[in-house]
Amino acid sequence: MPSVFIKTYGCQMNERDSEAVAAQLVAKGYTLAKSEVTADVVLLNTCSVRDFAEQKAINKMENIVGAARNKKREQIVGFMGCMAQSRGKELLDRLPDVDLVLGTQKFHRAAEYLDELLAGRRSQIVDVAPEAKSEAAIREHLLNGSAKTSVSAFVSIMQGCNQHCTFCIVPATRGEERSRTIPDVVDECRELVSRGVKEITLLGQIVTSYGRRGMSPAQPEPAAATGEPRLASRSAFVQLLDAVHEIDGLARIRFTSPHPKGYGDDLVAAYARLPKLCETAHLPLQSGSDRILKLMHRGYTREKFVAIIEKLRQAKPGIGITTDIIVGFPGETEEDFEQTLSLCREVQFDNAYIFKYSPRRDTPAADMPDQVPQTIREERNERLLNLVNEIAARKYDEFIGRRVEILVEGPSKKNAARYTGRTRCNRIVLFDGSARHQGQLMEVKIERTGSFTLYGDPAILE
Ligand code: SAM
Repeated sequence: MPSVFIKTYGCQMNERDSEAVAAQLVAKGYTLAKSEVTADVVLLNTCSVRDFAEQKAINKMENIVGAARNKKREQIVGFMGCMAQSRGKELLDRLPDVDLVLGTQKFHRAAEYLDELLAGRRSQIVDVAPEAKSEAAIREHLLNGSAKTSVSAFVSIMQGCNQHCTFCIVPATRGEERSRTIPDVVDECRELVSRGVKEITLLGQIVTSYGRRGMSPAQPEPAAATGEPRLASRSAFVQLLDAVHEIDGLARIRFTSPHPKGYGDDLVAAYARLPKLCETAHLPLQSGSDRILKLMHRGYTREKFVAIIEKLRQAKPGIGITTDIIVGFPGETEEDFEQTLSLCREVQFDNAYIFKYSPRRDTPAADMPDQVPQTIREERNERLLNLVNEIAARKYDEFIGRRVEILVEGPSKKNAARYTGRTRCNRIVLFDGSARHQGQLMEVKIERTGSFTLYGDPAILE
């Protein structure tokens, strides 16, 4: 059987989609190649959120196709995911040697299409059409190729986004919001737990909008099917958290990415109510200026954002709070940017992902006046990064001497003598461990810190 290599660009949703495609192919008898050089099939799972990510995937494909041609090697190559969806056939005009372009609602068709290409029945396939219920098709897991080795897994609960932020291409690449049902998600989680998974991260473009629309009426009503009373005062997302929380053997629940607007009182209360829900929240801020937030179509103000964080910190003291920020959005003045700096000083994020604004095709912001020059975007990026890193380092140092619970994931990728785990608030901890620690919930004492890493001494084994 052929071997396949999948390279993933972008977010955890993309990681999860790649894993589901790999699992689908392995189930059909494919082997997983270690690199694109030896593989019979190479798939690039792409990201469109910024232009840089698109260019990286295009350059990579040019190199792969060029190398195969030079070595006269037969190789099937394809793009899948967000850029495949947004550019479709246009990718073949630029790279005519590409065999497959697979959109975001078509991952479950990868094996079928590759069969046709490998058998020579078709020479090129582009499929980016929408497909009903495709949101429920991303469910197979690899668990690192063996049911024994993964302690943590991602579960995709929904697809698409209806928020339409003016900078964002995601509604065009992932389509309208569609959610899986609670029983369907719970079944997948239960199966993962039966295979040794201890921590599940629920994934979606905006998970807090889960179940608001696009739930197939042919499937059972979520709460009724789990046998729980219907809790009208809890959002569908919180009902899902409740249902997943019931799974015996599951130790931790996380989710990403939410929208700040989605942190209603029911979700805030869930942090205090559900012990398995880890005390970590990623709240994409995007800007600290109300004027820019409005232009971005974010649906909250600076004041509301700060109030949500206060509520979360009250409900769960010590909660880890991270964010995404865009610098250089069209029209952003120095004064607007100062507002972002001041909000970061006020809120003291545990970490922040900072993005230089990248104009995306067919998004309103790309045509807005007063586009910010690249040099200013870079300069603001650096200033904000310095501030965020300074705050984050200080917050890391506060852990020295503390005992924290970690879930041990396995040997560190950089140094196999060390083992790596994560705290409940999602910080990486390295310690001198061994295979018997893998999958364990342990307490470690933090001795020192490094760059976005804590170094621990195992204190008590559970
Ligand atoms: N759920 C998130 C939210 O509430 O906005 C969206 C996740 S998005 C895929 C990841 C991050 O990419 C966004 O939060 C945003 O900071 C960044 N991003 C999206 N579009 C961008 C653009 N055109 N330029 C720069 N950064 C962008």
